[in-house]
Amino acid sequence: MTATTPTALERAIQRYGDDLYRMALLLTSDEAQAAATLRSAMRRMIDTPLAGISEATLSAALVASLPPDRRRLRRRMPAWARLPAARAEAPLVAALAQLPRQQRLALGLTFLHGFDAPQAAAVLGSDEAQVRVLTRDALRALARHAGSDLALADLDVDSAPEACRSTRAAIALGADLAHADPATRGHLALCSDCRAAEQTWLRLTTTVENALRGALRTITFPEYLNEDLARSSRARARSALCTAGWQRRLAWPLGDPLELRRRLLRHTERRRLG
Ligand SMILES: [Zn+2]
Repeated sequence: MTATTPTALERAIQRYGDDLYRMALLLTSDEAQAAATLRSAMRRMIDTPLAGISEATLSAALVASLPPDRRRLRRRMPAWARLPAARAEAPLVAALAQLPRQQRLALGLTFLHGFDAPQAAAVLGSDEAQVRVLTRDALRALARHAGSDLALADLDVDSAPEACRSTRAAIALGADLAHADPATRGHLALCSDCRAAEQTWLRLTTTVENALRGALRTITFPEYLNEDLARSSRARARSALCTAGWQRRLAWPLGDPLELRRRLLRHTERRRLG
């Protein structure tokens, strides 16, 4: 077998594969399901030309390849989320792994891929507001595991004074959103309580981001998936050549039963890899 130059998809996987695999682990129940999801995502992308392949389109293919979300079943604790009890962030990571899938998805797109709200919304096929709400709800659910010195009352919009509520609600949906609005910005300039609440949200966000990245940091794209992808790409290239080249078909050594058998086997394998 001759060495071929990597396809556009193979190059993209070299670049984004680690984060894609971490996302797959975050969103599925175990390594086997994560690998199956990634395989299916790569199948979706294998014929996409270079211009169509980006971190965002790869993420969207991964999301489209996820198995059905069985919300009623309690999620078993995945291996990556079982940190030694001595680690301070162990309860936070365990709680993160148990969040509803849509919330894990929003956190993963934001913290692992570094997408902003509009980019994450494009991947999810939803709107920016929904991504912000998912992220807010996830962070709020994780707050009590994010360190005993976090002022939880700062996160509760309803218990804030009337004059502060709209600002607190905006902060909860993202500091960028809060500062884009002149009224909220004006209130923040005058109200030290709301500035403190903003700091609490920022600390919570940073703590959760570090915990998630830290828990998945040592995990990399599995070599066997790389080999699968390279094999599928080569099979794809071969089949394109075979169907395109009449001359090539004439040159097939059809008379050799062994060679015929080998081709048949390869063909079956190609279909299996699909
Ligand atoms: Zn205020």
